[in-house]
Parts: sequence; structure tokens; C-alpha cells
Amino acid sequence: MKKFFALFIVLILVLATLGCTDNSQVVSDDKEGDKVTDKKPEDDNDKPDKTDDTKPKIDFDEVQPNEAGEIMVLMYHSIAPEEDTWVRTPDNFRKDLEKLYKNGYRLVSMRDVIKGNIDIEAGKSPVVLTFDDGTQGHFNYIEKDGDLVIDPDSAVGILLEMNEKYPDFGTAATFYINSNPFRQPEYAERKLKELVEFGMDIGHHTYGHIYLDQHGPEEIQRQMAKLQELVNDVLPDYPLDTFALPFGIWPQDEYRQYAIAGEYDGINYENIGVLEVGSYPAVSPFNKSFDPMSIPRVRASYEEGYGHFKFFFDVFEDNPSRRYVSDGDPNYVTVPEELKDKINLDDFPYKELRTYTIDE
Ligand SMILES: [Zn+2]
Repeated sequence: MKKFFALFIVLILVLATLGCTDNSQVVSDDKEGDKVTDKKPEDDNDKPDKTDDTKPKIDFDEVQPNEAGEIMVLMYHSIAPEEDTWVRTPDNFRKDLEKLYKNGYRLVSMRDVIKGNIDIEAGKSPVVLTFDDGTQGHFNYIEKDGDLVIDPDSAVGILLEMNEKYPDFGTAATFYINSNPFRQPEYAERKLKELVEFGMDIGHHTYGHIYLDQHGPEEIQRQMAKLQELVNDVLPDYPLDTFALPFGIWPQDEYRQYAIAGEYDGINYENIGVLEVGSYPAVSPFNKSFDPMSIPRVRASYEEGYGHFKFFFDVFEDNPSRRYVSDGDPNYVTVPEELKDKINLDDFPYKELRTYTIDE
């Protein structure tokens, strides 16, 4: 009896699907019509131009968007059992993420901030996670009950755990790697591919973690190109296009351009952003003074002074007007009227400036 019932349901579904396919072909002439979907035809009608009309209007008084505000780009190094200047323990990293989530922060990738693609819910603030040096604690595989699993105490494991707990938090994080990324060569390829599948990013940190000021154009370009080759051998189309300066050190002035773009042995590289080591939040990408080629970072550690996460987290709590707050609509850049002169959208021609004043 059960079997017969199941067969009947399948038959109904098949008939319904056929019906749907026919309908959507009438509605739209695009390739979507050939796909078997369970979408109702009216959904397809909405699809071609999903404009802001379909989005709920935001209440400026309540949300107080400020897309001229500052953004913390957090700089992590190792995730390992002993807390230290350059080490965060797994539990402290979890606490950082909990604190960020609960206080209205959402993860946005470095690349998306630079490109102005800050697509988070109205009233939320973007925060960027960066990890330097490709250590094993960033992405580790362990054996558990005979299976190979992602170490739940590695950065990637913790990010996945948090995103499971808070699905709107996101998984965006950029791992600035060198040769031998994540120190388990047997899984290196798999890890690079998985990072991208998980919605995370890979960035330049030079092949050999060199002091750029101690080298000339050839070696600088070779270091950049070799890392690019390492990544592109695994992910041929992956745009390795943001660069965290090793030790925060630029090449000598006359070779500065090679930190941004260059070519070695037929391999071209070009960065859309360069990240420094210290020591304060970045301005909004829509702010006139935003310089993608010198993005400051905030140090994520137990330390409490200027330059560190706790310091600027508290600064933003005490001065909410400093913090970037999203309007929830990537088509607009919304700022309080008095901040409109801070904005320059020349690099974002598809975005429109919108201002508001709060009724007292
Ligand atoms: Zn480094």
C-alpha cells in the first residue's frame, strides 16, 4: 500500500513538473524554461528585473544607515592552543566571532569590501577576517574514528561551526598564504579548493614570506608570480588579487609598483588591494579617502591597547556613528545628510547616493 502511495505521489509530481515547465516557457523565453523547477510561473515574472521596489523600504530613523562609516579588517595569525601576541586560541577566536555576531557584525570578504559589494542586511555592519601565513591551525585535517575530518578547532572548522549556528553570519575570510599552504602538503590542493567552496578567499602573501624592501624588481615579481602559479595550478581561474604585505613592509619606493602588479616568466599578477599590518579600522570604500592600495588592519589578539580588536570594538560601541551600518541595498550608498561630502562614487558608477536626516 505504501509503495503504491509513493508511486502515486511521484506521478503527481512528474505531471506537475511537466505542467510547470510548459508554463515557464510561455512566460519567459530564456533557457530557464528548459530546467525542471518547482517554481511557480509568477516567480519567473519577478525574476528578470529584481529592482529595489521588491525590497522592503527601510526606516532611516530606526536603521540609521551610515555607509560612510569605518570597517574593521581584523588581522589574525596563528590559531593554536597557547594565546600569544600572534596567536589566538580556538576558544578565543570563537568568542571573537560570537561577540561580533551578537553586536550586529556580518562577515564580508576583503575583495567585496574593495569592490563595494557589501551586501548585508539593513542595520548590520561589515567586518573582514584576514589570516596571514597559511599556518596549519588555519585549516587542519585530522583523523577521527578512521575518517579524515576538518579539525573543529582550526579557523576553517570554527568558521563553518559559527555559520551553522548563525546562517546569516557568512563564512567570508581571506587566507593570505605562502608556499606550503596550511602545512599538510598532502591535502594542500584539497584545502585550496575547499576554501573557495566554503565561500572563503585566498590572497597573496609572497611565496617565501620575504622582506620586500630587501629585494629588487625581479625577485619581488618572482615571489608574487610563484604564489599565483601555486594557486592557479589548483584553481585555474581563481583571481588572486589582494595582497597582505609580509611583515607589513613595502618594497623600496622605486619598486613599490611591483607589490601591486607585475609579471614573471609569463605569469601576470595584479592586486586590487594591498593590506598593511596596523593599526586602525579602514574607511568605507565609498569614502573619498579610501585607498585600496593601503588598507589598514586591526590586530585580533588578547591585547587591549590601541591597534587591537578590543580597543576598536569598544570605540565603535561608544561612538556608533563611526561604524559602517548597511542600508541593506547594494544599489544605494546611504549616509546621513551631513556626511554626503565624504562620499565619492566615481569608482562605483552603478551605485546611487541617498541621504537622510533624522527628525528630532
Ligand atoms: Zn606574514
